[in-house]
Amino acid sequence: MKALIEQLPKVELHVHIEGTLAPERMLMLADQNEVRLPYENLKAVQEAYNFDSLQSFLDLYYLGASVLITELDFYHLMRDYLNDAIEQNIVHCEVMFDPQTHLARGIGFDVFMPGFIRAMREVYDESGLTVQLILCFLRDLPEADALKTLDLALPYLSDVTGVGLDSAEVGHPPLKFERAFLAARKLGLRPVAHAGEEGSSDMIAQALDVLRVERIDHGVACVEDEALRRRLIDERIPLTMCPLSNIKLCVFEQMAQHPILDLLDQGLCVTVNSDDPAYFGGNLVQNFLALYETFDVSERQLRQLVVNSVNGAFLANERKQALLDQLL
Ligand SMILES: [Zn+2]
Repeated sequence: MKALIEQLPKVELHVHIEGTLAPERMLMLADQNEVRLPYENLKAVQEAYNFDSLQSFLDLYYLGASVLITELDFYHLMRDYLNDAIEQNIVHCEVMFDPQTHLARGIGFDVFMPGFIRAMREVYDESGLTVQLILCFLRDLPEADALKTLDLALPYLSDVTGVGLDSAEVGHPPLKFERAFLAARKLGLRPVAHAGEEGSSDMIAQALDVLRVERIDHGVACVEDEALRRRLIDERIPLTMCPLSNIKLCVFEQMAQHPILDLLDQGLCVTVNSDDPAYFGGNLVQNFLALYETFDVSERQLRQLVVNSVNGAFLANERKQALLDQLL
């Protein structure tokens, strides 16, 4: 099974590029760009990774992102993740990025987008790995800020597939971003949103009803609500779950409590993803391995999880079919 997990052609739908920044590159870039971090060495950075909540993680995440300054830094950030994706036999990935984290530091779309795009094109030419970008709004900032960000993104939208909503969930419901998502959908962006991670199941329903999202990121709170689960099955809404992230951020105390396999067996379109692999102790393969070690996942369940990711991807039907043919 471990070999099969590694070998299967996989799809990743929920990974934040800023969350792939490895501690080694963080320290290297801090040194190169003369950004002062409150850590002396690699060990000190790794110790800071003991989070007790989403907020304590976000504090470190934003500090880490502050070392990214030049187009080349963003190129390396994307290239590092995509190199690892190739190693893991990921054949398609949809990568989220947080423009507001960089805009607030005076770093614009003209810096990070060319860096991302160069890495994406190189990797596609070398390996055939396809990459799509999802522009995420930070939900703890005002909606006006999200609308301004969308405006700044206009010249780059031919390279952006989707729009998402991330960062601190509690106190920032989907409703707050109704106009921003309407504007993004009108521009042809495919909508997704984090919902029901630390927040309640109502946030999942609100993201579907108000933001008209096509996928829910996380969505573990659907365990609270049977009617919502039926709806998620009927409407075939993919849930991009991230087991190691949920444990690291204390959404669940132990992996044995994670509902993903139970939800899979109930017929929900759940998928496995890494979220912020550099911070949560594991890439996509390691998330699958963590599930396998806890739940003794069967081959049928494993294949279904990967099939769900293919079905949930923003890919043309032809490509989906070609990927499904390799899996079944
Ligand atoms: Zn996430």
